[in-house]
Amino acid sequence: MTKLPFTTKQDLLAVYPYGALAVSLSDVCLILSSSGTTGSPILTFYTESDYKLWMERLVRNFKLAGIGKGDVFVNTSNQGMFTGRGYSEAASLAGAASIPVGPASPERHLKLMVELGVTSFHAVPSFALKMANLAEDFGLTEKLRLRKAVIGAETWSESTRRRIEESLNVDAYDNYGVAELGGPGIAIECPEKDGMHVWADHYLVEVVDPETGERLGEGEEGELVVTTLTREAMPLIRYRTGDVVKLLPSDCPCGLETPKISRVKGRIDEMVKVRGIGLYPKIIEEVTSSMPELTGEFQIVLSGIDDITVKVEVKRWVKDVDRVVGELKTKIKELTLLSVAVEPVEEGSIVYQGKAKRILDLRQL
Ligand code: ZN
Repeated sequence: MTKLPFTTKQDLLAVYPYGALAVSLSDVCLILSSSGTTGSPILTFYTESDYKLWMERLVRNFKLAGIGKGDVFVNTSNQGMFTGRGYSEAASLAGAASIPVGPASPERHLKLMVELGVTSFHAVPSFALKMANLAEDFGLTEKLRLRKAVIGAETWSESTRRRIEESLNVDAYDNYGVAELGGPGIAIECPEKDGMHVWADHYLVEVVDPETGERLGEGEEGELVVTTLTREAMPLIRYRTGDVVKLLPSDCPCGLETPKISRVKGRIDEMVKVRGIGLYPKIIEEVTSSMPELTGEFQIVLSGIDDITVKVEVKRWVKDVDRVVGELKTKIKELTLLSVAVEPVEEGSIVYQGKAKRILDLRQL
């Protein structure tokens, strides 16, 4: 296996649009795309068999998270070409009443969830956090009937999880997917929430040293590399995901015996070296979402030679902003050993399209 070369995102971009297709276009039943978080979008293709197996994996995800018959489910993900849409149909197949709402404001989603007695949802973490903030601010926590949430497609910290769980009164599960590899449905947490179970009958996972490409062992942090085992339209061999994880022991108290990976620490291209220290946005998120005075939204701005400014949204009701800023600086210093400047901004002023963009590197400009 280690003798086989890697496949990279650049390989796929180079053969856009149809070069990565392994079957005739007439055998394809669905074409979706990656969200293009890091540049151009990449297409992903499904044959009828690919689509059926994808739905089966998403139904498994729902089963592990405890979503099924009796649930009223909302998919907050875009219903266009993005692979998060798969959860809408899979929820029906899992036995839930599925509502494919798609993109709408967090206000509209919360209103619907209260009105329709929604019990479960799928979202990206930054969107779930927006709903959590609104629920806190408008006292909606008790009015919601939520039980379970499947969340993914961005990295998110344990403190963000706690905030989402407490404010929305929900049990939140991290799940893993990559559009090029067929979207969500590669791995998901079980109720132990100690790593994600990989659906190993469809995906072979390895963790490699991102510099040397050498395979790493259990517990060693590196880049996740995935080989598809059942995809027909776009099989990929040793695909470098760019996501930083560890392989975990596969014996899980839940009884499910599959390979397990840790939750994603960050993307390799998201790690910035500042004053010799490697910094992932997730560690800043761990702090910002643990402080009730902040919305949890943040952006890291790098400028000058190695100056870091952390922009954070302060909640409207906060009077002593200076104290909050001081506390945040101390906490970041404790965790990262880095002294940072903090720029408090108004609630709702950090905006981006789709997935969260956490780092603005102005150093090269
Ligand atoms: Zn388990």
